[in-house]
Amino acid sequence: MDFELTEDQKKQKESFAGLCAKEIAPRAEFTDKEAVFPEENIRLLGKVGFLGMGFPEEYGGSKGDPVIRAVLGEELAKACASTYLSAGASSGLFGIPVLKFGTQTQKKKYLPGVLSGEKMGALAITEPQAGSDMLGMKTGAQKSGNGWLINGSKTLITNGPVADYYVVAAYTDKEKKRDGISLFIVEKGTKGFSSGKPFDKLGVRGSPTSDLFFDGCEVPGENLLGEVNKGFLQLARTLSHGRIGMAVYSLGIAQACLEESISYAQERTAFGKKLAHFQDVHFKIADMKMYIDVGRELIYKAAWMLDQDDSQSVLFASIAKLFMSEHTTKIASDAVQIFGGYGFIKGYKVERLYRDSKLGEIGEGTSEIQRTIITKLVEDQY
Ligand SMILES: Cc1cc2nc3c(=O)[nH]c(=O)nc-3n(C[C@H](O)[C@H](O)[C@H](O)COP(=O)(O)OP(=O)(O)OC[C@H]3O[C@@H](n4cnc5c(N)ncnc54)[C@H](O)[C@@H]3O)c2cc1C
Repeated sequence: MDFELTEDQKKQKESFAGLCAKEIAPRAEFTDKEAVFPEENIRLLGKVGFLGMGFPEEYGGSKGDPVIRAVLGEELAKACASTYLSAGASSGLFGIPVLKFGTQTQKKKYLPGVLSGEKMGALAITEPQAGSDMLGMKTGAQKSGNGWLINGSKTLITNGPVADYYVVAAYTDKEKKRDGISLFIVEKGTKGFSSGKPFDKLGVRGSPTSDLFFDGCEVPGENLLGEVNKGFLQLARTLSHGRIGMAVYSLGIAQACLEESISYAQERTAFGKKLAHFQDVHFKIADMKMYIDVGRELIYKAAWMLDQDDSQSVLFASIAKLFMSEHTTKIASDAVQIFGGYGFIKGYKVERLYRDSKLGEIGEGTSEIQRTIITKLVEDQY
């Protein structure tokens, strides 16, 4: 057992952290304040190979595995959570199912653009009446000649307003419930498809989220992704990556909170002393450090298990996501507390981190759903 990153991983982390601090972090406040999609960040991440990590070279990818993606992902989420979320939805939530279940033609057509950052991808599962309860979705796809006709709507879709390509979940046989869902690739501009305006959100305001509408949307037969009626299983495999991705999102935010809190406590004075001399501030910082370090180890373990195709990887992805996201909302709240009144004011980074932190407990399955999954998987073992 080796708990150390390799020399190569450490070097990659250092160099990517430098890039994020120099190019991405300075734009984070504007991105949040004006709710603008940070397109230039996505292009940059494509250019430096971050989006393509772990994908085969023939589709524009580069060397990498879930562990190094987590290591570098922390740096990106720390610099700008909006950029991290949109980048992850594009190359991860869209790219991974296309890579795992797509035909050679689909991979060649869709992956290079998404991995270079020139095109954006999205994954659309959630519907107005069905989020946690995925099987409650109503969107359906009916065979029509050589293709499919999709009817229904999706909501809360990351990159909804800006994506070029969408992986869309729809019932192809509603009676069969989980064995009746299929995935389709829908391109922007397809007849019968439209996306809504970006929602005005609490956090990750630079990552656009919207409704999607399918009104007799005509999808050619070759846009079925993987096998018909196998969509639920395909999504389950995709969501393990997504949950680790969401845990990394929380980790990056938590680490940023810790760093902000330490430097503020060292400079701010009250009662003639630096805040860093008050025991209550020590305790908050010690707890932050403890939960961040434990969470990081858990995330690396879950990522490593996913890479090994370990049968426990689904369980550990949920554990890592649940642990890190819930501690991060507490860490962000403590960071605001350390900043006192200024922590409540726009322009102070911890104010943004506090708002961004909450999504970790909701996206990729809420905390309640993670607890349900963990209990089910643990019960199955006994
Ligand atoms: C910024 C943002 C980006 C998102 N991006 C995407 C995306 O790219 N693609 C996508 O498909 N979706 C996306 N989502 C949707 C997200 O996955 C859902 O919001 C989430 O799964 C919860 O579903 P819901 O909102 O319908 O809540 P509901 O399912 O209605 O849940 C409401 C509450 O009830 C609880 N609850 C529900 N069922 C149970 C149960 N069985 N036991 C205990 N408690 C339960 C939940 O935990 C929650 O607290 C995004 C959401 C946000 C906010």
